[in-house]
Amino acid sequence: AQKVKNNQPAVSSPAKKSKLSEDRNSKLKQLQIQRMQLPIYLHKNELMEVIEDSKSLVIVGETGCGKTTQIPQYIDEDNLTRPGKIAITQPRRVAAISVATRVAQEYGLDMTVGGHVGYSVRFEDVTSPKTKIKFLTDGMLLREALKDRLLCDYRVVILDEAHERTIHTDVLFGIVKEAQLIREVKKLPRLKIIVMSATMDVDHFANYFNCQVVYLEGRTYPLNIRYTTHAQEDYQTACIYTFFRIHQVTPPEDAVLIFLTGQEEVEHCAHQIRLLAKEVDGPPVKVCPLYASQTGLQQMNVFNGTPTGTRKVVISTNIAETSITIPGIKFVIDSGMVKVRTFCPSTGLEVLKVQRVSQEQAIQRAGRAGRDSEGFVLRLYTNEQFKRMRPSSIPEIQRANLNSVALQMFALGVRMSDFDFMDSPPKNAINAAFVQLKLLGAIDSVSESITLTELGKKMVKFPLDPRFSKILIMADQFGCLKEAITVVALMSSDSILLNPPSKKEQVQEAREKFRSPYGDHLTLLNIYRAYENLKKDTEKNWCQEHFLNTRNLLYVKEVRTQLTEICKSNGQKRSSCGGHLDQLRKCLLAGLFMNFAEIHGDTTLRREKQYLTLDKGQAALIHPSSVLYGIQPAYLLFTEVVRTSKCYLRNLTIVEGEWLNEVAPEYAASRNFKFNN
Ligand code: ADP
Ligand code: MG
Repeated sequence: AQKVKNNQPAVSSPAKKSKLSEDRNSKLKQLQIQRMQLPIYLHKNELMEVIEDSKSLVIVGETGCGKTTQIPQYIDEDNLTRPGKIAITQPRRVAAISVATRVAQEYGLDMTVGGHVGYSVRFEDVTSPKTKIKFLTDGMLLREALKDRLLCDYRVVILDEAHERTIHTDVLFGIVKEAQLIREVKKLPRLKIIVMSATMDVDHFANYFNCQVVYLEGRTYPLNIRYTTHAQEDYQTACIYTFFRIHQVTPPEDAVLIFLTGQEEVEHCAHQIRLLAKEVDGPPVKVCPLYASQTGLQQMNVFNGTPTGTRKVVISTNIAETSITIPGIKFVIDSGMVKVRTFCPSTGLEVLKVQRVSQEQAIQRAGRAGRDSEGFVLRLYTNEQFKRMRPSSIPEIQRANLNSVALQMFALGVRMSDFDFMDSPPKNAINAAFVQLKLLGAIDSVSESITLTELGKKMVKFPLDPRFSKILIMADQFGCLKEAITVVALMSSDSILLNPPSKKEQVQEAREKFRSPYGDHLTLLNIYRAYENLKKDTEKNWCQEHFLNTRNLLYVKEVRTQLTEICKSNGQKRSSCGGHLDQLRKCLLAGLFMNFAEIHGDTTLRREKQYLTLDKGQAALIHPSSVLYGIQPAYLLFTEVVRTSKCYLRNLTIVEGEWLNEVAPEYAASRNFKFNN
């Protein structure tokens, strides 16, 4: 109790001054009590001493102990940042938004985000000149570095969730390290670097920054971990089955957290559990799906309590591993699987693939149980399988397509091959990025020196994959800027299509009128065009009728606005191709010519025809979700590759073979492309 008094934090004086309503006041008090109950609070004073004394620091602490929400506030209260700001990066946009919102509430002044506490994520900047605590995605901080490599806006940069090792965080490691050094040399205000991780394995970070590590103790309770005796073929069904076994024999207060791999799986499992819960004996069930593309409101659902006597089950992607902490979880069911985006230089493709988690991830997942009391973990794999998992995940920079980040690094004036990476990306991936950027006309190399072309300078302004940026820039020539922006915005957002598994036929019927014979991109364009012309008050119903995600459509609209602004700043003029959609298809090809596939001639006997990518000759099939499924055009371009047991292409547009010679003659020649009429 002594300690609590000493630390008397955060009912910050401005909050006292303003006339808060009683409600607000009591909510604020409650939040302050919650803050003081976090494990990190006990170490506040010592922690702040170390932070003050260190140039750089690594902080390790159990997920949920209060690192992300509390440390920025402690630093802010301590005036360590005056006159600058504090930046806290998050690998996921949802995490950035959700923690910023939470911290704004705790800060209390007006309880809304965008004031003292703000956030900046791709296509959405909720900050003001007053903002001192700024949560950003790591990608956004990297964009800011493009404007000012020394990040002079900030006195403290916190690279949070560093264990996730996203490509942007990895590049930022090098950027902030350099900025710190240069600012010191130039006698500019110092930059303090804090790296935060939820996993213990941080020697790597400490060595790289040559700094101390602070370990925060969390509250931990014993965990009972069980494995299956046999390997599970169908982990989704196994999850549902395991849930009901728990559900029928344990008190409903014990919440359950299930880890699956992606939105579709999560929704499918949620649907099954809702159905079955009505049929089996047992208390009512509140099902909370959790994945990255949800709205803030949907996500907040997992933090809300349940009526007494109702069981809460959260079904989540790996987002609940470390980014978001859910209270009250007693049981964790771990499928042991995760969806990973991986770039393969030899096929030139970036593939979404479901694979086994690493041991480190399995341990993190297990740790989500037993935060309030003894916990139980049901791993749907054998102990042998666990032992065979790789100890930790491969950093994204060693498995991702480097195009986008390579372009940004060229814009920063650094060469990837000379950059001070914590772990360097593979040489062949750097090479592949280099080749692609050259093909896109973004860079020019004269003997040793590489420069950004005029085109490249325009491209780097877009927060997009360089291929998409190229589409937008080329749209001037094809007179289809409006449509190109729409398609690129659609490809930059989560799917606007809702596909409830129980309503397959209704969905197809409702959306039939939008179907374009030229493929998915144009079908989506048709939907967006219809949406654009709606009266505001009819939008919601219309979306419901056509099984469309209102929120994602709204997001597409915002992205469109932002992209339009950037095009304008690049000196582009408005244009629209109206009904001449060939223009648009050519334009898409002008950016995506490396995503070109042709039908494989030798498989005439097979029902499902194979395609070969022109770039590296990778064999693939049309994904069943595509509107082109069952139709077998000679040539197509794709924007997504999915690998399950086979390789599938998704989000497709039919193109003409001769166009490739027209829009990318050098590339066509280099690939020996022969157009068969
Ligand atoms: P860490 O970064 O150490 O994992 P956080 O600072 O994110 O921990 O979270 C600390 C605690 O704050 C969590 O245990 C959780 O209970 C609470 N919390 C965080 N975000 C929210 C939110 N949006 N709503 C309600 N509670 C939250
Ligand atoms: Mg955190």
